[in-house]
Amino acid sequence: MNFTQPRLPYAPDALEPVISQKTIEYHYGKHEKNYIDTLNKLIKDTPFDNMALEDIIVKSDGKIFNNASQAWNHIFYFFQFNPAGGSEPTGKLKDKIIEQFGSIEDFKREFEDAGATLFGSGWVWLSADGDGKLFITQGKNAENPMCDGLRPILVFDVWEHAYYLDYQNRRADYLLHLWDIVDWDIVSMRYNND
Ligand code: MN
Repeated sequence: MNFTQPRLPYAPDALEPVISQKTIEYHYGKHEKNYIDTLNKLIKDTPFDNMALEDIIVKSDGKIFNNASQAWNHIFYFFQFNPAGGSEPTGKLKDKIIEQFGSIEDFKREFEDAGATLFGSGWVWLSADGDGKLFITQGKNAENPMCDGLRPILVFDVWEHAYYLDYQNRRADYLLHLWDIVDWDIVSMRYNND
């Protein structure tokens, strides 16, 4: 089976100034596309050929894992944004964030801090376990919390390719501005519809 790159649900310049059209052209247009194209080549005529992407991620390692997980992570990342974002979590997710982190603002600072302090390339994740407990974790390179039995809710990409054209070395600035385009309706649905 060939995986196809899903189209973005917004125009390439729609997330400006938080994420520029140029970054979308490289990050979505070249990086994400390349992970998907490479994965399709790697799994051809292997036992992974007809597997769901999530199954490949938890069952593979090496190059196939790296490209499968990077494909999934980028699709998950780009689909949580909306030019009219910047709202607030809703329903059970909002209640749980306040219960565990004190407030939405406290949660955001802790999430940004995890992203800013991750050394090298990777992702900062909000995930939930089977009981709905939330976890903020740092994932190196292509890591995905699914491999630890957690359900991803929100992710910020902290590979330099995600922010260098717009923010250069100012990763913390990029993380701070991402909140302006997070579509909390989509993110909350990932948690509330469990
Ligand atoms: Mn990326």
